[in-house]
Amino acid sequence: MLTARIGNTPLVRLRRVTEGLAPRVQVWAKLESFNPGGSVKDRAAFAIIRDAETSGRLRPGMRLLDSSSGNTGIAYGMIAAARGLHLTLCLPANANVERKKILRAYGVEIVETDPLEGSDGAIRQARAMAAATPERYLYLDQYSNPCNWMAHLHSTAPEIWRDTQGAVTHWVAGLGTTGTFVGTTRGLKGYNPDIHCVAVQPDAPFHGLEGLKFLETSIIPPIWDPSVADAHMAAPTEASITMMRRLAREEGLLAGVSSGAAVWAALKLAAGLEQGVVVTLLPDSGERYLSESHLWP
Ligand code: PMP
Repeated sequence: MLTARIGNTPLVRLRRVTEGLAPRVQVWAKLESFNPGGSVKDRAAFAIIRDAETSGRLRPGMRLLDSSSGNTGIAYGMIAAARGLHLTLCLPANANVERKKILRAYGVEIVETDPLEGSDGAIRQARAMAAATPERYLYLDQYSNPCNWMAHLHSTAPEIWRDTQGAVTHWVAGLGTTGTFVGTTRGLKGYNPDIHCVAVQPDAPFHGLEGLKFLETSIIPPIWDPSVADAHMAAPTEASITMMRRLAREEGLLAGVSSGAAVWAALKLAAGLEQGVVVTLLPDSGERYLSESHLWP
């Protein structure tokens, strides 16, 4: 079954962008583009849809509804298609052409929202539609739904623990809905509370890091728990784009711009260590951004 292929993504060691680090420092990247829907969001979307079905909240004739900047919508769209379900997605109108075309290919109904309001505008639209016609829509609400972070507690964290044979010392990940960071951190701390967990945000409210949120000026996701982070790092857009390009040319990893931010932060952290096993996560593939000429001239 398609959904059985979600998770168990490869963890690979970065060997060239790591030049100059202390000899006993390793940096590893978890490649989430290997999920069938092409991103980390398959994990949360599958857990959320399965819960909607088994809890009985999804009654016949209802449509699934959520907001997304793209990847969650694509993951829902893939899973919904395979299960004969229907999805309406609120999406900022400036989402790139790859995202819109993939969503349409899966048969997703798209409601475009004000690009200036970003992902918060899409959240407000989904909330309004769910409130106006609750009998028509099951609002999945990835920002509040505990299945989001629990998917990472039950899959991402055990995979990292297994694939590093318990040697992981540092975990670095970006914050969008915060599900990846919150769930994986809770899972890793359960294995070893000394693992140092670093949350990465953009360094400014208007940024180019698709998928990540500048929490200070955004709607705070109810699943966010600031107490789980040992430290925070602020990734600049330009440095993240540069790192994204280096990943392609120096590591053979064609990844998205939030992956560039995650690796930028992981390497900055690693540069201050004498020894350690730093693990980060590459949320999606660079193929999902090829039309954006400022990223790939
Ligand atoms: N990067 C990309 C490209 C994403 O689509 C997302 C999801 N919004 C994230 C990072 C952040 O993941 P999460 O929602 O689990 O915090």
